[in-house]
Amino acid sequence: MKIGILGGGQLAQMLALAGFPLGQRCVALDPKADAPAGQLVPLIVADYDDRAALDQLAAQVDVVTFDFENVPVESARYLSTRLPCFPPHLALEKSQDRLAEKSLFTDLDIPTAPYFPVDTREDLTEGVAALGLPALLKTRRFGYDGKGQFLLREAADLDRAWTELGGQALLLEGFVQFERELSIIAVRGRDGQTAFYPLSENQHSGGILRVSRAPYRAPELETQAQSYMDRLLNVLDYVGVLALECFVCKDGLLANEFAPRVHNSGHWTIEGARTSQFENHLRAIAGLPLGDPSARGDSVMFNCIGKEPPLAQVAAVPGAHIHRYGKAARPGRKLGHITLTGQDPAELREREAQLAALIPTDSADPSAIS
Ligand code: AMP
Repeated sequence: MKIGILGGGQLAQMLALAGFPLGQRCVALDPKADAPAGQLVPLIVADYDDRAALDQLAAQVDVVTFDFENVPVESARYLSTRLPCFPPHLALEKSQDRLAEKSLFTDLDIPTAPYFPVDTREDLTEGVAALGLPALLKTRRFGYDGKGQFLLREAADLDRAWTELGGQALLLEGFVQFERELSIIAVRGRDGQTAFYPLSENQHSGGILRVSRAPYRAPELETQAQSYMDRLLNVLDYVGVLALECFVCKDGLLANEFAPRVHNSGHWTIEGARTSQFENHLRAIAGLPLGDPSARGDSVMFNCIGKEPPLAQVAAVPGAHIHRYGKAARPGRKLGHITLTGQDPAELREREAQLAALIPTDSADPSAIS
């Protein structure tokens, strides 16, 4: 079976790698000629709304999927008139707009941070009066890895935030005093079969994921997260991997956002689960039975951001699984990740400390600057 992927980033690269043993071959489409997936699979270099390029992709593959959610919905809609295209474009549509996403959470009774749509400077004043400070002002569209966000701490910040972000559709969110951040990854097959990965605990800094640890063992939170996921998967008539990021608060789990694709907080599943998120995504969209998502032990995954760690020293850490995406180094850019897995938590912590000491602090990480 041939799989078309809109987007040729590291997620497409890892999907392609997972496809080889299944006998699946991928073709990616990306506007950038140096997109990482091009190191592995044929790459069509074109804009996502280039109809001729979409036709060229559709002519070569049996099913189409995405490696990021900001593909124009119109292109997904167009492709789905020609061949199976998963996840459904409704999921892309909802995830592309923070207001649509939050409204969906509210409609499904999934708790989320209080929010207020902001289109004008007056809306911002009104929103802050309603939600209080601190609050986060976010762009409704095209925000990722903490981009397009402004933390409002005091009244004087409103003008500065407006100068930076005003003039586009925005969303004000109440600042959540969370205990920790968790994510859940689910997969749903073409026949409606679903599987859930164990919870992952995620550490972000500067809005970018730095470290994930899984499984995070908290049966009550897991039940809650699975119930949120079930509602999303069903209403979206979803096929493929879906990730949901949540905040753990005193009152339980608040949904932050979902990603209709394989997710960075699930990279640990390559070595740490019986079936990786990448393989299960491919199984789902190909109409195959899903694989076992359970964990093989404990895993910890470090992102390499902005700068790569010294290869030989990382390779000397016992059991370090190194993934380099072949991207040029740039502050704030995800260049690779490293996963450790283990059966003995104390022994894993020891190797984790060894590895952590080798991961360079990224110049884009505000916690590294202060
Ligand atoms: P997002 O782009 O919404 O995924 O946000 C990136 C990161 O910013 C999250 O993983 C959190 O660490 C932080 N964050 C986002 N929204 C909020 C919020 N409403 N309250 C507190 N922290 C937040």
